[in-house]
Amino acid sequence: MAPPTPLLEVEGLTKRFGDFTALDSVSLELAAGERHALVGENGAGKSTLVKMLYGLLAPDGGSIRWQGRALRLANPAQARAAGIGMVFQHFSLFEALTVTENIAIALPQLSLGGLAERIDQVSRTVGLALDPDRRVHSLSAGQRQRVEVVRCLLQDPKLLILDEPTSVLTPQEADTLFEAVRRLSDGGCAVLYITHRLAEVTALCDRATVLRRGRMIGHCDPRTTPAGDIAEMMVGTKIAPIARAAPEPGEPKSRLRLRALSLSARETGGRRLKDIYLEVKSHEIVGIAGVAGEGQNELVRALTGEIRLPLLKGAIEINGKRAAHRDPASRRRLGAGFVPEDRSHHATVPAMGLDENVMLSHHGEPRMVRAGFLNMAGARAWVERIRDTFDVRASSETPAAASLSGGNLQKFIMGREILRQPRLLVVDQPTWGVDAAAAARIRQAIVDLADDGAGVLLISQDLDELFALSDRIAVMYRGRLTPARPTERLNARLVGLMMAGPKVAVP
Ligand code: ADP
Ligand code: MG
Repeated sequence: MAPPTPLLEVEGLTKRFGDFTALDSVSLELAAGERHALVGENGAGKSTLVKMLYGLLAPDGGSIRWQGRALRLANPAQARAAGIGMVFQHFSLFEALTVTENIAIALPQLSLGGLAERIDQVSRTVGLALDPDRRVHSLSAGQRQRVEVVRCLLQDPKLLILDEPTSVLTPQEADTLFEAVRRLSDGGCAVLYITHRLAEVTALCDRATVLRRGRMIGHCDPRTTPAGDIAEMMVGTKIAPIARAAPEPGEPKSRLRLRALSLSARETGGRRLKDIYLEVKSHEIVGIAGVAGEGQNELVRALTGEIRLPLLKGAIEINGKRAAHRDPASRRRLGAGFVPEDRSHHATVPAMGLDENVMLSHHGEPRMVRAGFLNMAGARAWVERIRDTFDVRASSETPAAASLSGGNLQKFIMGREILRQPRLLVVDQPTWGVDAAAAARIRQAIVDLADDGAGVLLISQDLDELFALSDRIAVMYRGRLTPARPTERLNARLVGLMMAGPKVAVP
């Protein structure tokens, strides 16, 4: 007997943006009920591929067959009519409307009568509880995503595409989503699951397609292929594990100390900060976890000195010296280094050369002055050192910051701060959007700095990163910070519960 026709057959699919080939002749097959992972690093072409399957982008080459027939999609409505549903990384919901109203607007073909009951029924069947009458503005990111998933399921898709769905979820919410995906596929729906997180592929999927820089590297069965092999397919090289030196004997020094730091929303221009206590010592990496927007950004700006504090407003000590009233340059002179989250505007001036960027941040820097780097030639020599030490790849000798890829610019910024040998480094999302090889190098540099006696405050939304690097971890929630607990006494579930807020009892 001939094997059954696959649900979806993608053959040689290609997409170009101008001269740039974002997807180069990629092929894959999907059967009904299959949980198929599409994996690859940032920029590998995953979203580009599924946008073509959903009628959002027109292919420049190749073909899509659906249930044995050629499929040409002019728009997402045609994809939905064929039975293809997609949940995007970014949500598209109206804040002021209820769950039911949001779904009714998106799906005018469904009758309003009994819609709330159907929402309730579908959400129960897959195990994604939803209150149809809640207004969207009062929902967490995880609940909003449920609305999007349930909205998709109401159209009874044969294929559900999920594009990096866990990036906004706590570990518990992710587990609930995985359960729902398993139920759906058990019921015969195929799932194309996009992620750059290997652990999710192993936990959830029975097939995987690996992309790297727009090319298809291969297919594998993640249940039998070692995770290290899939990682190597994604990245193209072996990633060395992080090496940490043994702790130094002797009394550690205080590198950063916050006592009762409180700032009103007016003072931060964002979230208020409430009664924050924290100490980071020499040889120590302290991680701060949290869902985005819980006050991490405000804390970083209070630490860098971008938000200037009245003298009496809580204590910030850097290397044992009072720092709350000091400006950023003066805090740097106390031995602090800062790597803010937004590398392309905040941390550098995009249109300027790397040498000019070094001049801007390091003029008056004693170490640089002593080393004789006082003019542009000196700044260029300094850039040379950063590029050599941190493997910053660029197309010319003196490239503009804007011409570097995200990963290379981040390596440059990390190098710029770390070669100053700060005694305190505050770093926000150090590897966001950076490929795995560059991320490994950046993480090792952070560890080496701490091993060398600095204190590091690491703010990250990547729990794996926090657990890999931190000696202690604290959680930020609504402008408050929990005490930093030793990492070996925590796990991702516990931190996830703390990220969801104090309402949830920690077992
Ligand atoms: P992934 O989802 O795997 O992170 P994408 O499919 O979003 O990657 O992007 C693949 C590549 O295509 C990236 O280098 C990205 O910058 C580029 N790209 C994506 N969309 C566009 C576009 N509309 N115009 C130009 N380049 C694009
Ligand atoms: Mg993407």
